[in-house]
Amino acid sequence: MNSFKETEILPFSSGVSPDGVLQINGHSVDELIDKFGSPLYIYDEDTIRKMCVEFRENFCNHYENSHIEYSCKAFANPFVNKIIDEEGLFMDVVTGGELAVAINSNFPPNKLNFHGNNKGKDELTEALKYGVEYITIDSFAEINLLNSISEDLGKFQKVMLRLSPSIDPHTHLLTSTGILDSKFGFSIETGDAELAIKQTLDKSNLILDGVHFHLGSPIFELEPFSEAIEYVISFCSEMRDKYSFNLKRFSPGGGFAIGYKTEKKPPKISEYAKVISDSIKMSCDKYSLQYPELIVEPGRSIIGRSGVAIYTVGGIKKIKDVRTYVSVDGGMGDNIRPALYQSEYSVISAGKVNEERDNLVTIAGKFCESGDILAKDVYIPNPEVGDLIALPASGAYNLMMASNYNMQTKPAVVLIKSSSEPPYLISRRETYNDLLRLSIFE
Ligand SMILES: *Cc1c(COP(=O)(O)O)cnc(C)c1O
Repeated sequence: MNSFKETEILPFSSGVSPDGVLQINGHSVDELIDKFGSPLYIYDEDTIRKMCVEFRENFCNHYENSHIEYSCKAFANPFVNKIIDEEGLFMDVVTGGELAVAINSNFPPNKLNFHGNNKGKDELTEALKYGVEYITIDSFAEINLLNSISEDLGKFQKVMLRLSPSIDPHTHLLTSTGILDSKFGFSIETGDAELAIKQTLDKSNLILDGVHFHLGSPIFELEPFSEAIEYVISFCSEMRDKYSFNLKRFSPGGGFAIGYKTEKKPPKISEYAKVISDSIKMSCDKYSLQYPELIVEPGRSIIGRSGVAIYTVGGIKKIKDVRTYVSVDGGMGDNIRPALYQSEYSVISAGKVNEERDNLVTIAGKFCESGDILAKDVYIPNPEVGDLIALPASGAYNLMMASNYNMQTKPAVVLIKSSSEPPYLISRRETYNDLLRLSIFE
């Protein structure tokens, strides 16, 4: 395989054909575009499986009683759910819709956890009927609602509480979720967390097994995890002393970073695993708590690297001494992350991988917003109409946040299973009929 600088952020199986075309596990992206159209999202199964193994092994090595729970809001798809199940992972859902994907992929209910800060009565009822193992409660209203639904159905539901530890993970403000000023979680600082524990323990049909927090994403530092874990476990020891609360299950959430730009490397999974495991053990030892079962909830870091977005270049606008805009056939409709929180991407001219990158350009989307820019100030070889542009690390959140703004259809998604099997369409491109089917015309 030729080496080029994006090898660490592309799927593990990426390479370059002799004529300089990007390949995913031996499949040239130009041929994939010919077959499935543009823009196209390509997922690499090997990379998904490797990341599952990486998480499982690293966490088990450091903390025996641990389980990995894939947060499917990063990419909810039946084929991926099946891979996740086969790799022995649990899964998180955050809405009835994600639950529906899980149910329709036959994902085992006893490996599901239902998150979310405002689950509705219907969603909770469906979850209980399906037999979801855990529900992570995020509000006082939900404590009451879930208990009454459980009573009505004659069920005893295992629950966790989402706490807010007031820790800043130093990521974008819009993706920080464990700070005091957040809609998520019962704040320990304000006394809400204590009240929630007390109320939940008092409920007839809820079984409180543990606590959860999620700091935000992507988190490139390790200290926010150790700080938050020490704080939350010390709080749990207080709750044991006051209310005999038994911490059986503990989850420090997800939020592990991946490489988007080649210059900004994330910590290794082993480093996250070590700091999380060490902090739990140290804090539990300090307060004489038994080591709880550890649940880790990666979303982005399981699926992000496996996905590559491919676009085709249309208009090229050169503004002398200012900027060159290279417009592609997708943009904020399939990837709102740059517009929403200034996410940065590396860019590869997928048919010219071996050519010198001597043109400074800005990759613009096709949507009617000036903010629809996929990547600002990146170097690529001389851009021409029809070139293919690849954005690595596009597997997480892009398509889940996709919209039909401008009545644009959403791209197709293919899964590369292996080098010898044909590429597999796992989500077809939307058609105008898909867009029209909800409208009532008379
Ligand atoms: C989104 C989310 C995750 C996963 O976050 P990533 O950044 O994708 O790892 C985990 N837990 C909860 C509760 C979440 O909301």
